Amino acid sequence: MDLVLDTSALLSGRMNTLPTGFTCVYITSLVRSEVTRGAPARLLENLLSSGLAVRDPHSSDKAEEAATATGDIKGLSFADISVIALAMELEDATVVTDDFRVQNVLSSVSIAFEPAGEAGKRISNTWEWTFRCRGCGRYFKREQKNDECPICGSNVRLYRKRHQRA
Ligand SMILES: [Zn+2]
Repeated sequence: MDLVLDTSALLSGRMNTLPTGFTCVYITSLVRSEVTRGAPARLLENLLSSGLAVRDPHSSDKAEEAATATGDIKGLSFADISVIALAMELEDATVVTDDFRVQNVLSSVSIAFEPAGEAGKRISNTWEWTFRCRGCGRYFKREQKNDECPICGSNVRLYRKRHQRA
């Protein structure tokens, strides 16, 4: 089974790491272009480097038809439509979305979905996120201004630490 993440799933901050147990986990290039700033963009880069794939549907026609039929099309972005279209083209896909309109259209075409919080719970490893300076190696709890270390001025990056389960 494949998993497709929509923009709301990425913005929820709950997709901290790639969900396990799926053949492939996808986003579309339009979704990628909607998540360009702040913490969600950093999380997205981490997901992309750990195996999240970008894949686009061949056609959005059927998804647009379905969204028109449910009356949701006006409230959906092209990125939302691309997610629905990709899920319709894949053999057995589940969509992770917190967007009620997207969920509504998916229901109408019998495609499974789950909210980002639920998908997040399925992630087998929990990770703790931290910021670390690449120069002096100091850790920070928060994002630093301009990604710059206040001590040495080097670049500060987001890292994940495995969290020990009790
Ligand atoms: Zn530093």
